[in-house]
Amino acid sequence: MLEQQQIDVLRQQNIAPQQLFINGEWQAASSGQTMDIISPINGEVITITADAGVEDVDRAVKAARTVFEKGSWAQASPAERKKVMLKAAELVEKHALELAVLGVRDNGTEIGMAFRAEPGSAAATIRFYAESIDKVYGEIAPTPNNILGMIHREPVGVVGAIVPWNFPMMIAAWKIAPALATGNSVVLKPSETASLSLLRLAELFSEAGLPDGVLNVITGQGAVCGEALGLHNDVDVLVFTGSGFVGRKLLEYSARSNLKRVYLELGGKSPNIVFADAPDLAQAAKVSAMGIFRNSGQVCVAGSRLLVEREIHDEFVEHLAAVARQLKVGDPLNLDNDIGAINSAAQLDKDLSFIDSAMLDGANLVTGGKQILGETGGYYMAPTVFSDVTTNMQLDKEEVFGPVLGVVVFDTEEQAVQMANSSNYGLASGVWTGNLSRAHRMIRAVKAGVVHVNTYGGPDVTVPLGGVKQSGNGVDKSLHALEKYTDLKTAWIQL
Ligand code: NAD
Repeated sequence: MLEQQQIDVLRQQNIAPQQLFINGEWQAASSGQTMDIISPINGEVITITADAGVEDVDRAVKAARTVFEKGSWAQASPAERKKVMLKAAELVEKHALELAVLGVRDNGTEIGMAFRAEPGSAAATIRFYAESIDKVYGEIAPTPNNILGMIHREPVGVVGAIVPWNFPMMIAAWKIAPALATGNSVVLKPSETASLSLLRLAELFSEAGLPDGVLNVITGQGAVCGEALGLHNDVDVLVFTGSGFVGRKLLEYSARSNLKRVYLELGGKSPNIVFADAPDLAQAAKVSAMGIFRNSGQVCVAGSRLLVEREIHDEFVEHLAAVARQLKVGDPLNLDNDIGAINSAAQLDKDLSFIDSAMLDGANLVTGGKQILGETGGYYMAPTVFSDVTTNMQLDKEEVFGPVLGVVVFDTEEQAVQMANSSNYGLASGVWTGNLSRAHRMIRAVKAGVVHVNTYGGPDVTVPLGGVKQSGNGVDKSLHALEKYTDLKTAWIQL
């Protein structure tokens, strides 16, 4: 149970100026440059971080490569690697509240959710992949009797991981944990607006016994140090979560450098489809509202397009708007609030620009639609619902990544499928129906990496998360994610 008093003590603590974590040491950027870290809670500068340049990235990649070739992690016994990773998971749990509060001061997620989704889920992820180390085997192929074909799984080498600001620890753990479990070295580049908890995470891995250089964290601007990592000729694989805009750049970097493999977890514009035969409309409205409004809509799988069958449309929108109006938005470190801050002033501006465009396009504002709590100096926005949205509007096509829901009406199942699939994205989706056959038909018909039926949002690490179409390639989570961090090697042995 979280206690307000403990949170309040942690939120008062000064945060020391932060440096780069390279080769197990804190290092300044070679240029000496720093970046201000602004808290979205009140718009104040809470500390500074190093602003890494090309040279710093090179130093981090060299450290990662050196230790990889030395083999102190890559060739350590499975039991040893597992022990270190389990210890790291234990340390994340031990420092969970500290990590959660630090992360919230940096990125603005409501503390209850941050506590579960950040250290909570990161620890579970690290433990899951630690346990995989001595349970995933190579293969022996069914070759003719006089020859043996063996398939080995080997670490790829140096992994560059670039992550966003919405759930920095959870998403970084989805990448770091399988990469480390399979013996790789990692250079991690957090977002400019959510790096503090990841710098601390690197320190905890070190305390757990991870050899120096195996996990390096470089902070800095995406267009500078992110680009340098993407272009580096000694990075073997790039794993990324973020926008399609940057994802495209990473593919270019690969083409311009060493053809490194690039795995992209990108955005979404996920359809959440409510049929008139849904078992409990009030419950569906409640879950659907949280499916878009939790973390102020800054969730890649947010159900941001609500498709509602005409005969229940008015009733459903009423239920939904009632839930949206009741949500308490405010200081993310106050346990009374349901929803925290928007991550940055720039993201808030982006969210508000979608309100303007939806109004211009003729959508009907049902509730919200504005910045709130401006007097705090922080970045907050009212949960917003638009009805009368059509599939040609910007609001229905582009990802807002904010607390803005557009409701589209449909008449038939075929039309719902056609509308759901009209997007360039294909990350998540939801279907609400009491008809089992329809549920199965929809699971097959909707083009998305995830289909929820009569629920929305499933946090478990055991299942893959990945998108189709312009939502990306490859998956995070589950044993399937190990594929990204290993090369297959065939050995032929004449018998
Ligand atoms: P972003 O693409 O702006 O930034 C992501 C990361 O890329 C940051 O670390 C940033 O510094 C870095 N970057 C920026 N420019 C770069 C460049 N030129 N070269 C290399 N790196 C660069 O995304 P964001 O605003 O941090 O996050 C929001 C986006 O992330 C949304 O589109 C959201 O849907 C997506 N997301 C996807 C998933 C998923 O699992 N599919 C999960 C969470 C977020």
